[in-house]
Amino acid sequence: MTNTSRFIYLDHAATTAVDPRVLEAMLPFLQDKYGNPSSVYRFAGQAKEALEAARRTVADILGCRPGEIVFTSCGTESDNLAIRGVAWASRERGRHIITTPIEHHAVEATCHQLAEHFGYHITEVPVDRYGLVDPDDVARAIRDDTVLITVIYANNEVGTIEPIAEIGRIARERGIPFHTDAVQAGGSLDLDVDRLQVDLMSLSGHKFYAPKGVGVLYVREGTPLLPVQTGGGQEGRRRAGTENVAYIVGLAKALALAHEQREAEAERLTILRDRLIAGVLSSIPDAHLTGHPTKRLPNHASFVFEGVDGEAILLQLDLAGVAASSGSACASGDPEPSHVLTAMGIERRLALGSLRLTLGRENTAQDIVDVLAILPEIIHKLRALSPFYAPSSKEMARPAR
Ligand code: PLP
Repeated sequence: MTNTSRFIYLDHAATTAVDPRVLEAMLPFLQDKYGNPSSVYRFAGQAKEALEAARRTVADILGCRPGEIVFTSCGTESDNLAIRGVAWASRERGRHIITTPIEHHAVEATCHQLAEHFGYHITEVPVDRYGLVDPDDVARAIRDDTVLITVIYANNEVGTIEPIAEIGRIARERGIPFHTDAVQAGGSLDLDVDRLQVDLMSLSGHKFYAPKGVGVLYVREGTPLLPVQTGGGQEGRRRAGTENVAYIVGLAKALALAHEQREAEAERLTILRDRLIAGVLSSIPDAHLTGHPTKRLPNHASFVFEGVDGEAILLQLDLAGVAASSGSACASGDPEPSHVLTAMGIERRLALGSLRLTLGRENTAQDIVDVLAILPEIIHKLRALSPFYAPSSKEMARPAR
């Protein structure tokens, strides 16, 4: 098997490395400036100031007020707080939530728990074969007792970008709080909450070069929300617990860096992504792109291959020095086909052969060349061993190597 003889990281949707500038901004708050931001003496004032400066930075990028930013421990917690917090606060008004079948497990499992144990009704609006939600379906699903709509901004498995602003307009007309899980969109898409017309939005630092274990929930003023984690009065009484100052400082720095170079980096990555997609589809027979061809994250390429197992592709890529994913990192090791691919109408047989390649800041054009030099060979060899692969005429015509 060809080896790249170097490590190529193509799993930026799973996580990213901490940017050295982010680490530098964080270090003082892990060393000298370790005060508790809630303490009253001047020493702790440094931590308090850094926390509030971070809140202002994030608020500027989201186009909201600093008081509408709640720092959390991760994207999962932000999703949980948004959904459970609004559902609990609105339980006298109604118990109906609208969502989609392509949400991250952090949203999906939270909705299912509310349904299973707390009597809520969940409507999942369908998606098309690209994973796109039709805003009219959302409008049709609204009932008198609907208390929340939650739709992912950009899907983690297939990269499709949803029509968030259009859904937001519908939600606003009907006076229903609208949450979006923007964890995958955080570093690369517009996060202006007024343009997006969202009332709640979840972000996670480790998807845009901040450390793992820090997130944001934007909560528009006036949105009903009961805290899920109770205790002290931190974060405007919406999320108890001493703030992780160093990580919050890191998240704000990372978000600012990502948004300074957002358009230029999106343009660069889109070129690499499209080269990767075209290369895979032209050199590997019976390969299909998953997700929308153009309405997709600039760094995101995802495929299904007939007659191969996604986990086997990952192992072979790993041996060749390439880190990739079969879908979401959280679903790895799960033999069931992805719920996202199934909801898009992709057959189980095909869905089991999925591969996600997600690019990031350190990837270059050479990485694409190198991956395209090894992936066709990997798929060909795995198919040769597979009892499930019946080659199409295209594969039969493949020249012997
Ligand atoms: N939502 C989406 C779309 C994600 O991709 C992820 C992580 O992969 C999460 C939520 C969870 O974020 P975290 O890992 O910070 O808990």
